[in-house]
Amino acid sequence: MTAKRTRGNGEGSIFPYRNGFAAYVWVTKPDGKRQRKYVYGKTRDEVHDKWIKLHQQARQGPVATRIPTLGDYLTYWLSEVVKPNLAPLTAATYETLVRLYIVPELGAKRLDRLDLRSVQTWINKVGRTCQCCAQGKDARRRSDTRRCCAIGKCCNSTPSPRTVKDLRTVLRSALSQAKTEELISRNVAALVKLPASRRRKGKAWTSEEARCFLESARSDRDPLYAAYVLPKGRGAWAGMGRGGPGRGGADGRLAVAASRSAAAAPRDEDREFRCHASASGHLRHVAASAPSRGG
Ligand SMILES: [Zn+2]
Ligand SMILES: [Zn+2]
Repeated sequence: MTAKRTRGNGEGSIFPYRNGFAAYVWVTKPDGKRQRKYVYGKTRDEVHDKWIKLHQQARQGPVATRIPTLGDYLTYWLSEVVKPNLAPLTAATYETLVRLYIVPELGAKRLDRLDLRSVQTWINKVGRTCQCCAQGKDARRRSDTRRCCAIGKCCNSTPSPRTVKDLRTVLRSALSQAKTEELISRNVAALVKLPASRRRKGKAWTSEEARCFLESARSDRDPLYAAYVLPKGRGAWAGMGRGGPGRGGADGRLAVAASRSAAAAPRDEDREFRCHASASGHLRHVAASAPSRGG
């Protein structure tokens, strides 16, 4: 051993800093890169103790030199924890959920400053945000094929309750790893409550669209025609048959809500059978010869 070596790796690097001392240890970061990590203290002894601890920590595994943002941490987590351990399809799903939903809203937050309230607010908001709007899906279409959110007719594509649940699962799993790595002390995603799943809102019809639908229903002699036109208060429309419950808005627009929970209620897809949008953009009633409804 040389004289220099007996001093111990790095011990010689304790140096006066501001009103005290500082020292550093070369550590391997979670992303695999090597970097100096500094410790500080009032006295040389204090810094020496911290330096010994850090040195031991560095020998045991990766050390974070500073607390990363959630976005940076998720990048590391996907490539070093998820991909090597999970099925490719699962890893791809996690990557998509992280990129489209988590990073845009929470990615810039420092991992240890991610609080329960921000995560709860985020997950509530995700559940009611049109993802066509948020992700610019319609805006990416060729200008002559844009058909909803980019031309002021929001298609209201909110994520399914299942997706919202998956989002919490992914975040909880990533934060659990961060906790194991001692970057955070508690997993806020595990404490988050999922928003109660509500019925999906259908798209609102203009009164012109509703008129087309009713005329079409009448000419097709739909047995539920009477139910469609049953008046229910001023400007309201109660189409309570299998055509789905209708609600009249104050602005004269009609909303046909399609329930996904009630077994007997039609789904959005069913409405397609009844109200077929023709090439000209007009709604046409399609006689109730819809294919069998699963269940
Ligand atoms: Zn849209
Ligand atoms: Zn939209």
